[in-house]
Amino acid sequence: MMPYDDTNIFAKILRGEIPSTKIYETDAVLAIMDIMPQSEGHCLVIPKSASRNLLDAEDAALQSAMVEVARLARATKSAFGADGVSVMQFNEAAGGQTVYHLHFHVIPRYEGLVLKG
Ligand code: 5GP
Repeated sequence: MMPYDDTNIFAKILRGEIPSTKIYETDAVLAIMDIMPQSEGHCLVIPKSASRNLLDAEDAALQSAMVEVARLARATKSAFGADGVSVMQFNEAAGGQTVYHLHFHVIPRYEGLVLKG
C-alpha cells in the first residue's frame, strides 16, 4: 500500500488551504458537505489524523470517527427529513477510493430515490 501523502484534497481542507462547507468539528474529526452529493444532505466525516484509509488507520481514530458518523447520520436524517441513511467507506482504487485520506460518507436516503452517480 502507498504511504500517506498529505497533498490530498482532504488534507488541504483540514489545513484550511482550500474552502469547504463545514458542518461539524471536534478535536478528532471534521464533517463537511460532499461537493458532488449523491443525495440531498450527503456529507463526509474526515478524521484529522493522517491515515490513507481503513487499512492503515489506528483504532483510536476509527473509534472516535464512528461515534461521529452515527451522530451525523442521526442529524442529517432529521435535518433533511430522510427515510434512512447509508454509510459508505472505500479503500484503494480497486475499492472505489478517489481521495486518499480516510473518510466516511453519510448519505441520507429517501424512499423511491436511487443515488446519483
Ligand atoms: P471516495 O474517495 O470515497 O470514493 O470519494 C471522495 C468523495 O470526496 C467524493 O464523494 C467526492 O465528491 C468528494 N470530494 C472530492 N473533492 C472534494 C472537495 O474538494 N470538496 C468536497 N467537499 N468534497 C470533495
